[in-house]
Amino acid sequence: MRPPVLDPLFAPVSALPGIGPKIAKTVAGLVSRAPDRDATVADLLFHVPHAVIDRSHKPGIAYSENGEIVTLDVEIGRHQAPPRGGKAPYRIQGFDDTGQITFVFFHPRRDWLEKTFPEGARRIVSGKVEWFNERPQMVHPDYVLPPQDAAALPVIEPVYPLTAGLAAKTLQKAMAAALERVPALPEWLDPAHQAREAWPGFAKALEGLHHPQRKNDLNPEAPAYRRLAYDELLASQLALALVRAHMRQLGGIARTPQGDLQKSVFAALPFQLTASQAQAISEINADLARPVRMLRLLQGDVGSGKTVVALAALAQVTETGAQGALMAPTEILARQHFASMEPLCAKAGIRLALLTGKDTAKARRDIQEKILNGEIDLVVGTHALFQGSVAFKSLGIIVVDEQHRFGVHQRLALSEKGKGVDVLVMTATPIPRTLVLTSFGDMDVSRLTEKPAGRKPITTVSASLDRLDEIVGRVGNAIGAGQKVYWICPLVEESEKIDLAAVEDRHRVLEYELRQPVSLVHGRMTADQKDAGMTAFKTGDTRVLVATTVIEVGVDVPDATIIVIEHAERFGLAQLHQLRGRVGRGDKPSTCVLLFKGPLGETAAARLNIMRETNDGFLIAEEDLKLRGGGEILGTRQSGMPGFRIAQAEHHTDLMETARNDARLILETDPQLQSPRGQALRALLYLFGRDEAIMLLRAG
Ligand code: ADP
Ligand code: MG
Repeated sequence: MRPPVLDPLFAPVSALPGIGPKIAKTVAGLVSRAPDRDATVADLLFHVPHAVIDRSHKPGIAYSENGEIVTLDVEIGRHQAPPRGGKAPYRIQGFDDTGQITFVFFHPRRDWLEKTFPEGARRIVSGKVEWFNERPQMVHPDYVLPPQDAAALPVIEPVYPLTAGLAAKTLQKAMAAALERVPALPEWLDPAHQAREAWPGFAKALEGLHHPQRKNDLNPEAPAYRRLAYDELLASQLALALVRAHMRQLGGIARTPQGDLQKSVFAALPFQLTASQAQAISEINADLARPVRMLRLLQGDVGSGKTVVALAALAQVTETGAQGALMAPTEILARQHFASMEPLCAKAGIRLALLTGKDTAKARRDIQEKILNGEIDLVVGTHALFQGSVAFKSLGIIVVDEQHRFGVHQRLALSEKGKGVDVLVMTATPIPRTLVLTSFGDMDVSRLTEKPAGRKPITTVSASLDRLDEIVGRVGNAIGAGQKVYWICPLVEESEKIDLAAVEDRHRVLEYELRQPVSLVHGRMTADQKDAGMTAFKTGDTRVLVATTVIEVGVDVPDATIIVIEHAERFGLAQLHQLRGRVGRGDKPSTCVLLFKGPLGETAAARLNIMRETNDGFLIAEEDLKLRGGGEILGTRQSGMPGFRIAQAEHHTDLMETARNDARLILETDPQLQSPRGQALRALLYLFGRDEAIMLLRAG
């Protein structure tokens, strides 16, 4: 149960002044951990300002520079009211010792202006100065106050990342109310550590970020910022450590078969393993042979051949008589894994089945029965696998593909279906070493660093959307010559409707221009519709697939040789690279066309350059980290570390190490989190949404 002291922080944001049900939705899109979840007061408080406006600057009218935010102490002069009904703005003069300025208002509310700017009175006015025809003016000042109220002017004003439909003042007001709700919480930091770092308490730290006193308070290196980043990292490390401790406690089984099944699988392959595949397999075999659970991450760029490694691991375990399961994040991927494993399993004599949410009740019952009585050695599936109704005779290993799409509890739910279940996680996301820890915790890592031999290169070019006709023409020629083409359109949540219209539009235009049916797949379709679209493309009924990024992960259509990525400037590097990996999987050279809408910003231009220059996923991940602070590595759009709201890769990786050691020490001395500090740490886990791990305490 969540400690009741946290209740005020878990109230919905709609409990705050100025936040109605509609705005609450917008706020959720901005600050919630999952976009479809209601935002809480805590979510709001973890929405950190990204800049400050410094209103302490008071240069005087004549010395205010163009574009500067200044605070002026002026005497109000004449009002120049435009004729009613016209479009002309309302102008008010102001003076100080140095000169004269015009305040400009469009769509004026006259009575308000007359009351707020009484002629001849002194006023403190703050806003942005612009010079126009060598005269200063201020359009719609941000603040106007009589001198006696000057203290109400925020000297350092935080600026928040905003979204359409949410006014800065609304957010500021809600934030102030949210801060007042922060309860006094017991300290979870080690007192000596906190003293050494001179970090403020949790509530003080939040106050420091949302009510900065100096510009520097929002520096990620400032104590308040670092403290909160540490809290966030500690919560995640503690959760991961709890999971690991739990796994360890359950014990493992030493699996030392002859390796005959693996040998048969290898013999059935039409190719030689690469050196890094062989290396990864021997690391896995060594893990399996030890009487502790395997917890290994297999990292390999798209097309590096992870599936075979997974199958080798599964074969090794099934040879001991135990069963294996491979869990994929989508139906499409599950089917694909199944299709590529089926012939190999048939030759090796491994009994393979597919289980998805789409099977008929009867087929499902049939497969479940066979899993239960051991007539199936290996099952490939989706979420359907860890439902309660699926029981194994003796599950020995699970392989999880693209794990960041699954929650910790899902992985646990599956590994609890057997005894001493070994776990292999596969990811194509080229996470830099520094970030493996944040996302996967204390896992052992194998990396596939080379591509299988015989791969043809992918040529990457970029082109402005102005050249759309030309590109469509080339796509037409290519499909005429028997090639297959992916056409990717972006889909971002803030403007989902517009993007959806754009993708449907592009589909229509391409069908019309190319004079043939084109497949369409996007996230708003049902699983059936998506499947039908993908299948048509795979079998060649259609030669072009228009899709949003739903196809991003793992889809394999080896004879697709062209990928066009529209609005490439809107994608992060990691995502572009993932998408590009959809081609170059067969024996023919491939092309990736990055279609951008100019003018390109500096970062976007740099991203497209890197894409043209290299195909190396790990290099790209490192560059991505430099360009964006790692923000897009796991597909999150904000800068910062993937899955983290405060901690930032470029500033806080040192804290990660400390947090990991801290978490280990905590669990060594207080494994059930029962001491006073342990209780405080439980609150920390809830605060940062890592409370799934607390379940393990009770269970264990
Ligand atoms: P990914 O790492 O993206 O999951 P896959 O396992 O899907 O990669 O492999 C991509 C393609 O490369 C598959 O068609 C697979 O059969 C092939 N492949 C895997 N390993 C090798 C190898 N050592 N030599 C040649 N082709 C390979
Ligand atoms: Mg794969």
